[in-house]
Amino acid sequence: MTKRLRVAVVGVGHLGKEHARILAGLPDVELVGVADANYELAQTVAERLGTKAFHEFQPLVHLVDAACIVTPTTTHAAVAAEFLRRGIPLLVEKPLAASLTEADVLVQLAERHGAVLQVGHIERFNAAFEELDRRPLQPKWIRAQRIGPFSGRSTDIGVVLDLMIHDLDLILALAKAPVRSVEALGLSVFGGHEDMANARLHFTNGCVADVTASRVSPVAQRTMQIWAPEGYIEADFAQRKLTLIQPSAAVRQHGLHPARLDAASRSRLRDELFTRHLETATIDGQAQDQLTCELTHFLDCVRTGHRPRVTGSDARNAIAVAERILFAMQHHSWDGNTAGPKGPRDLPAPRGELIPQMPRREAA
Ligand code: NAD
Repeated sequence: MTKRLRVAVVGVGHLGKEHARILAGLPDVELVGVADANYELAQTVAERLGTKAFHEFQPLVHLVDAACIVTPTTTHAAVAAEFLRRGIPLLVEKPLAASLTEADVLVQLAERHGAVLQVGHIERFNAAFEELDRRPLQPKWIRAQRIGPFSGRSTDIGVVLDLMIHDLDLILALAKAPVRSVEALGLSVFGGHEDMANARLHFTNGCVADVTASRVSPVAQRTMQIWAPEGYIEADFAQRKLTLIQPSAAVRQHGLHPARLDAASRSRLRDELFTRHLETATIDGQAQDQLTCELTHFLDCVRTGHRPRVTGSDARNAIAVAERILFAMQHHSWDGNTAGPKGPRDLPAPRGELIPQMPRREAA
C-alpha cells in the first residue's frame, strides 16, 4: 500500500482553501493542517475539512512530507525558505517570488537540499495548452491577451507578476529560446503597481511575442494566437479550445498563387479557402480540473522524485523576463523625450474628459 503523504497548506485565502479542499479529498494524502496568519480563517477551513488549524506555519515544518505555499507573493520567499532548508518538497503558487533575487535563493535552496520545487503555473495543465505543446511547432509570432475585471486581490504585486506571468511562462515554454530584447509600457489606474501592461519580446531564435495583461478590463479573456511555419493557431484558455489551421499538402508543395489562377478558380478561392487550401481543426480540451491535475502531478513528483512539469528554474526564468518588462516599463517615455513623464504612474496631463459629465440637477 502506498504510504499516505502528510501534506499541509500555508495560506488558505481565495486559492489556498481550494488547494486544501482538493488535498483533503485525495486518497493517499493526509491533510495534516492548514496555516493562515488569519487564524479564524484557518479554523473555519480546518473545521470544514476535518484537519488542524495553525496560526503560524513553523510547527508544520516538522509535521509534513510536502506543503503548498499559497500566501501573498511578497511572503513566498520567507515562508518557502523555511521548508526548503529542511528538504521539504513544495508547490509554491505563482509567481515563485516577488523578485528574481528571492526566486534564485529558493531555487538554490531546493537544489542544495534535494527538495522538489514545483510552481503553480496552472495554465501548463490547461488541456488547450497540453494539446498545443504536443504539436511540432516553431512559433515565430505569438500574441497573448490575459485581461479581466479587478479582483481586489494580489495588490502586493502589479499585473505583470500577477497575470502576465502566466503567459510569460507559456511563451518561454513554446519559444524555447532566450529573450534578446524587451519593449514595454504600462499604466497604473489606481495609483499603486501597474494594472495594465503591454510588452514586446524578441527571442534569439527570431520569435517575437506581443503580450497584453490587464486587471481593470470590463471583459475577461485569456487567448493566444501563434504564427509558425507549420500553420496558425488560436488558443482560448478560458474555453480550453484550440483552432488549428495548416496549408493543405498541395499548397505546402506548390504554393498558392492567386494571380496564376484562371478567373473561375480565382472566384472560387474565397469559398474554398478553408476547405481545400487551408485545413482547419478545432479541438475542445477535456474539462479537467486544472488544480487537481497540478496537485496530483506534484504529489507524483514528491513520491517518485521526478522533475515537475513547472520547475523552480522555469518560474525564475519567467520572473527574469517579468523584471525586464517592469524595467522597460519604468523607463517608457510617454512624450517621446526623456525629460517628459515616464513609467506607469507618471502620465501626461489629460486634455479633458472622454465622457463629458452631465451638469448636476439641484435637489428641489
Ligand atoms: P488571498 O489574499 O486570498 O490569500 C492569502 C492568504 O494568506 C490570506 O488568507 C492571508 O491571511 C494568508 N497569509 C498571509 N501571510 C501569511 C503568512 N506569512 N503565513 C500564513 N498565512 C499568510 O490571496 P490568493 O488570491 O489566494 O493568492 C495567494 C497566492 O496564490 C498568490 O501568490 C497569488 O499570486 C497566487 N494565485 C495564483 C493563481 C493561479 O492561477 N495559479 C490564482 C490566484 C492566486
